[in-house]
Amino acid sequence: MPVAVESYFRISQELHAKGVTLVAVSKTKPEADLLELYQLGQRDFGENYVQELVEKQAKLPADIRWHYIGHLQTNKVKYIAPFVHLIHGVDSYRLLKEISKEAGKQGRVIEVLLQMHIAQEETKFGLSADELDLLLQELRQHPLPHIRICGVMGMASFIEDLEKIRKEFRSLRQLADQLTQRIQQEGYREFALPLVVSMGMSGDYTIAVEEGSTLVRIGSLLFGARS
Ligand SMILES: *Cc1c(COP(=O)(O)O)cnc(C)c1O
Repeated sequence: MPVAVESYFRISQELHAKGVTLVAVSKTKPEADLLELYQLGQRDFGENYVQELVEKQAKLPADIRWHYIGHLQTNKVKYIAPFVHLIHGVDSYRLLKEISKEAGKQGRVIEVLLQMHIAQEETKFGLSADELDLLLQELRQHPLPHIRICGVMGMASFIEDLEKIRKEFRSLRQLADQLTQRIQQEGYREFALPLVVSMGMSGDYTIAVEEGSTLVRIGSLLFGARS
């Protein structure tokens, strides 16, 4: 399926005007498709699978900012630590610690987002508010020098009910605002403000932007459906 060039221009202009970052989600798509968007000016690409990401990074232009948006296993952090721009789906202190360790070996500070559980569905990954609380306590006791927590990420339920989806996005925005206050009051070295709020995909990004998203992850609208 060809890259949807017109959709790309329309969506990227619309988001640019609102100050929202567009990450083009290119998982399972061939390098030629990524290159096509790259030549139109796109620099942020998102991938879900470590091996696929490592292979594409080696072959594609060096100034691409690679976002890891899948669920990352601790034993695979080392493969992406040399180059990854932002890791979106971090939901445990244990994973943060591993990222910090591997970043240190590379002489880097790696930027991450904390994945929050906002969907009604039980199968989704992500931290609850209580788990976030515990993670902050852990950071207080055992700071991590080689990570920078730049914000939060969430995925809405895969449902038709747009009002429910809107509520889930709204809850993530509120959580980010509360977290911002807390960081300002308590001062955590690992965090960088203002927080990125990564929410919205092909089917729901318009709602996500209305509810305060600062970064959307869009795949099928740009590259066509995945098989
Ligand atoms: C695949 C994926 C996307 C993009 O999904 P589309 O519906 O194709 O836009 C966004 N975020 C995550 C975490 C994904 O896994």
